[in-house]
Amino acid sequence: MTEFPSVRYKIVPSDPAAHLFRVTCVIVDPDPTGQVVSLPAWIPGSYMIRDFAKNVVWLRARCGDSEVVVDKVDKQTWRCASCDGGLVIEYEVYAWDLSVRAAHLDQTHGYFNGTSLFVRVQGRDQEPCLLEIRQPAGDQYRRWRVATALPAAGAEPYGFGTYAAADYDELIDHPVEMGEFSLATFEAGGVPHDIVVTGRHRADLERMCRDFKNVCAQHIALFGDLPPMQRYVFLIMAVGEGYGGLEHRASCSLLCSRNNLPRVGRAGVSDDYRELLGLVSHEYFHTWNVKRIKPAAFVPYDLDRENYTRQLWAFEGVTSYYDDLGLARAGLIEAKSYLELLGQTITRVQRGSGRLKQSIADSSFDAWTKFYKQDENAPNAIVSYYTKGALVALALDLTIRRDTGGNKSLDDVMRALWHRYGKSGRGVPEGAIEQLADEVTGLHLASFFDRALRGTDDLDLTPLLSELGVELRLRPADSAKDKGGRPSDSKRERPLLVLGVRLNGVGDRAQLAQVLDGGGAQAAGLAAGDAVIAIDGIRVDAKNLEAMLQTYEAGDCVRVHAFRRDELLEFEVELRAAPADTCFLELSPEVSAEARQRQASWLEGDAAAG
Ligand code: ZN
Repeated sequence: MTEFPSVRYKIVPSDPAAHLFRVTCVIVDPDPTGQVVSLPAWIPGSYMIRDFAKNVVWLRARCGDSEVVVDKVDKQTWRCASCDGGLVIEYEVYAWDLSVRAAHLDQTHGYFNGTSLFVRVQGRDQEPCLLEIRQPAGDQYRRWRVATALPAAGAEPYGFGTYAAADYDELIDHPVEMGEFSLATFEAGGVPHDIVVTGRHRADLERMCRDFKNVCAQHIALFGDLPPMQRYVFLIMAVGEGYGGLEHRASCSLLCSRNNLPRVGRAGVSDDYRELLGLVSHEYFHTWNVKRIKPAAFVPYDLDRENYTRQLWAFEGVTSYYDDLGLARAGLIEAKSYLELLGQTITRVQRGSGRLKQSIADSSFDAWTKFYKQDENAPNAIVSYYTKGALVALALDLTIRRDTGGNKSLDDVMRALWHRYGKSGRGVPEGAIEQLADEVTGLHLASFFDRALRGTDDLDLTPLLSELGVELRLRPADSAKDKGGRPSDSKRERPLLVLGVRLNGVGDRAQLAQVLDGGGAQAAGLAAGDAVIAIDGIRVDAKNLEAMLQTYEAGDCVRVHAFRRDELLEFEVELRAAPADTCFLELSPEVSAEARQRQASWLEGDAAAG
């Protein structure tokens, strides 16, 4: 008998109409004292307890022809009675979550993450295993294909059949798409890269290949090499509305609007396509930063419970910094376009008073219950380790560039992280990035990190950018839709007057989603959920509320009628001028040759520095 994995899974999209996958797990030599199996409580990359076991409809086990008693031990763990010989565990999983984090099955396609479907065989999770993916029965599924970065073990390219994983961690780190998807392939770093698009679309796949290849080449050049892999797969689900991405070791799952995809025959990079390229760039950067350079707390992942680290700012924030910057360095967008995106990031951070209350180290630590479980008070209470983390990365990069006279940059720190930790798979201990940054640059960055990571004061970006010939400007928002990044295009002579709220954007009703610190609405006692119906006795809705407010003067008090649940309440609200929380960046017309050189090195990468 040849060496053969003793843990084998089989997945059948057994009832697409009912969104049911049938999974079989065969353990040739189970634990003689009773085999324990469990499903993960969360999926790496998305730091929230999701309890995937809740979608298991039923589970049973047998040994030969006889049924084995199965005891449910906790929300996600089963213990099978001891059996003499091979154990076969069979279960059905309901898959109706169209996100990048779970599983989805209907008559148009199937998608799954292993964390939703494959039980971990306790004591055997370090061993290789096989996965057989079966085609759904029925003529209508005849043309379905399979896309995954999971290495084949007999399956034809893009075919149903048998795949293999070196261990459980690998098994659950290769999402699988099945259906009649569009497919295009390009090469980067000597490795084939597939773009797989599911959903109705009219995308220009040739262009996507060209542009994605550029993004990949940029990140491969930054780190020096692509981690070893047989192929890399971009699994894209195009829908009407939606946005999200999740990174894996040799693939990523992206959910986007079909408007984010480039159309055949259209030149230029639209704002929508730029957003998709940013997402692609982000997830690909994770191939190094978080999939291989990992917090020690994730080595190994404990899939049963929360895994705490104060370092998510480095894995998500630094990645968020390089995602858009990578587009500029790859020449896909111009410097002006990149500065617009950066201005929007600064704007997002500025608009939450939570940044003055929570540090990004704490935001990382509490991601499980705060960032991932945001409620109406989130802008007033928490800071995003993505957006502020990106600004910390920017400040760190520009500080290193300034204080080393342009000899070093954050790129050098990332390369050192890759070589010291990523390549060996050794986890990054808390605080190690800070030490490594000192070591690589020869600087003493302790006070920078204390302030940026563990403090809540705003970062002083203005002088850092100014030295590169980039001026940071703040202004009041033009309207509730104003995302920043550009100078005002309002013809209004006075600043926008606001209540200090955000509407929920659903339907015509002016229903409050958030009530912001420092606004008149909060001082008057308006609350999230309240539906504003009249200002000074005149009916308002989501469409005319903003315009109505502009007929007053700053400091005027207005009578606001609003329903809280079914009770009509009245408030006296002072109208205030919108705060100067909207950022845009401008290139100075006059800069020294040295500043221009530093600016080019930053925006175009090392190659431009000469
Ligand atoms: Zn990310």
